Amino acid sequence: MKRLIEVKSDPGRHWVGDGFPVRSLFSYDSMGEPLSPFLLLDYAGPTQFPPSTGKRPGVGEHPHRGFETVTIVYQGSLEHRDSGGNHGKIGPGDVQWMTAASGVVHEEFHSEEFARLGGVLEMVQLWVNLPAAQKMSPPRYQELLKQQIPAATLANDAGMVRVIAGEFQGKKGPAMTVTPLNVWDVRLHGGRSAELAIADGHTTALVVLSGEVRVNDSDMVGTAEMALFERAGERIAIESVGDTKALLLTGEPIGEPIVGRGPFVMNTQEEIRQAMLDYKSGRMGHL
Ligand code: MN
Repeated sequence: MKRLIEVKSDPGRHWVGDGFPVRSLFSYDSMGEPLSPFLLLDYAGPTQFPPSTGKRPGVGEHPHRGFETVTIVYQGSLEHRDSGGNHGKIGPGDVQWMTAASGVVHEEFHSEEFARLGGVLEMVQLWVNLPAAQKMSPPRYQELLKQQIPAATLANDAGMVRVIAGEFQGKKGPAMTVTPLNVWDVRLHGGRSAELAIADGHTTALVVLSGEVRVNDSDMVGTAEMALFERAGERIAIESVGDTKALLLTGEPIGEPIVGRGPFVMNTQEEIRQAMLDYKSGRMGHL
């Protein structure tokens, strides 16, 4: 069993642009090495947006370098446009996996229709770090639609696991990843329990988006909380109180220095300065 290290509590909300009321459930600011290769997880909503008459809520043109942004939509609909010429709209169950690597400039807005009609927005944006050797690779864009993401059924009618990346019970996720990692969308029925097999040595974090679970027959993890486990060990046990929606993140730690500033995450201050310079001089492209 992977032992529980700590449970991080609900951090409170802040706005990203005017479209995303988020709770940062973890961040490399305070937990860089322990969460590697994962850098940050923002959970937006669930928040009711009124029909919008003016401009669409969201975040305008901005850059990224040195890592990947993974956007998982639960409710609502988002539209994205980037300097690589990619344009996508993702809705409930869909995922966008953007490898910024050497640099991408993009915008992230509520989709035209969702903004016009209003409704509930609920989504996650996860940042995944890249090893130094891949930070300056060409960018990549993967749109993973709901029907491409396989689901595995848990034993004893406990619920299911949608495999976005990695592998669970023989189901392989569609995401191409740079380092070995798993992103599982876990749904547990109330009062059920499950044991999840996880690679020995992997960083392991359980992020509860709604509901409440008991982990390893001891501690409780509630809504908007994150449980971090030891890397040693090959499984965790979870038992849900009510219906629970969670993300299970596991991955091989990268083990390199993490130096970040705003939208850039590199290995040194010098590389951050270079990133700012490259963005300002247009070397990351334009929309
Ligand atoms: Mn962005």
